[in-house]
Amino acid sequence: MREILHVQGGQCGNQIGSKFWEVICDEHGIDPTGKYNGLGNSDIQLERINVYYNEASGGRYVPRAVLMDLEPGTMDSIRSGPYGKIFRPDNFVFGQSGAGNNWAKGHYTEGAELIDSVLDVVRKEAENCDCLQGFQVCHSLGGGTGSGMGTLLISKIREEYPDRMMLTFSVFPSPKVSDTVVEPYNATLSVHQLVENADECMVLDNEALYDICFRTLKLSTPSFGDLNHLISATMSGVTCCLRFPGQLNSDLRKLAVNLIPFPRLHFFMVGFAPLTSRGSQQYVSLTVPELTQQMWDAKNMMCAADPRHGRYLTASAMFRGKMSTKEVDEQMINVQNKNSSYFVEWIPNNVKSSVCDIPPKNLKMSSTFIGNSTSIQEMFRRVSEQFTAMYRRKAFLHWYTGEGMDEMEFTEAESNMNDLVAEYQQYQDATADEEEDFDEEHEDDQYAEH
Ligand code: GDP
Repeated sequence: MREILHVQGGQCGNQIGSKFWEVICDEHGIDPTGKYNGLGNSDIQLERINVYYNEASGGRYVPRAVLMDLEPGTMDSIRSGPYGKIFRPDNFVFGQSGAGNNWAKGHYTEGAELIDSVLDVVRKEAENCDCLQGFQVCHSLGGGTGSGMGTLLISKIREEYPDRMMLTFSVFPSPKVSDTVVEPYNATLSVHQLVENADECMVLDNEALYDICFRTLKLSTPSFGDLNHLISATMSGVTCCLRFPGQLNSDLRKLAVNLIPFPRLHFFMVGFAPLTSRGSQQYVSLTVPELTQQMWDAKNMMCAADPRHGRYLTASAMFRGKMSTKEVDEQMINVQNKNSSYFVEWIPNNVKSSVCDIPPKNLKMSSTFIGNSTSIQEMFRRVSEQFTAMYRRKAFLHWYTGEGMDEMEFTEAESNMNDLVAEYQQYQDATADEEEDFDEEHEDDQYAEH
């Protein structure tokens, strides 16, 4: 048994996290009381149930989930929502103060006060595990709690469990969705942490989610519920290989080994097909070639960056439903042959795919794509430009220095993110022959940084 411990923090983290649990409970046949009520004739739903659930007395399945927040509102609604009773009541850890969209409050002041209570619950869950493979954290980067306190928790977990994997589902801010001006500050300070302390980050970019809702799904005023529908479908797709028996990327470490050629470059673009809107009951049915084509399309990426502006270092695809593995393999080879210039030639066989029999709810087939693309730098550049515009004038800094933060941390975070962008660019430009020069250059950079 290789268990994963899930933590969700802040408003966004709790909202997307609880949707994730609703979706996977449904896929595994777990009802809102924690009882198995599934297909019955097949144990495929239960074979790896222990990855995400603890088995309690009376045959109840309880999510191995910790919920944290600096204010009670969001968690109150989860508790009174449809799956509220499924969580372990002791695993709700919350404060009353709020973080006021201030990363410093989450990371250094209010959050720091609550963090030990969260760690106590985390420790208790970890001790119950047979062989914990790692942690997954759901949070937004634009606010104060998920962002500041979320990254504080990640660094504490890394300290206490240095050899366990850390996966994050991180929601990047976009002015299209939000009206808090300091979000680029909070996001940049978080990225600085995630580069160092997370092993793999699934990037969920509100800018892209909004565009998908608006352009593809034709929703004129997308709500968080609409964005979160895309997120939960993606999270279900990404974790499918961890939850059901199969071969490829069957645990967090294998996923990382396949996808991460350089340790800092662990921010993934995720794509999903077919895209459907919340509440739509229609059975969208696509063929394997259509799924493959859509899955690689920039319009299906949950990150506002165009893969055609960069190159893939690695990629992985998970198809779900009843289909021919042979056809999947052929289609995937086909994409790579037709687009070979978009894959770095110095990592041969850098695209993997697999098929899981169980489709998501209301679909016959789906596919999820995880790509390590150098084009993700476009998103980091966007946030960096927004950061720099304000930081140049030191706008809003007093909110952070007032919590005891040093300006230096802003400068370091800014340059760490700029370095990350530069590293993506260097690997994007690297060819098989230039490799040697590049290594030298890069070593110098790394040296200068520390
Ligand atoms: P926190 O409670 O202090 O962690 O703050 P929030 O989670 O509200 O963080 C604000 C950021 O999260 C902004 O960029 C919001 O656009 C985004 N956000 C808040 N709630 C949601 C949500 O339910 N879904 C999505 N996709 N984004 C959200």
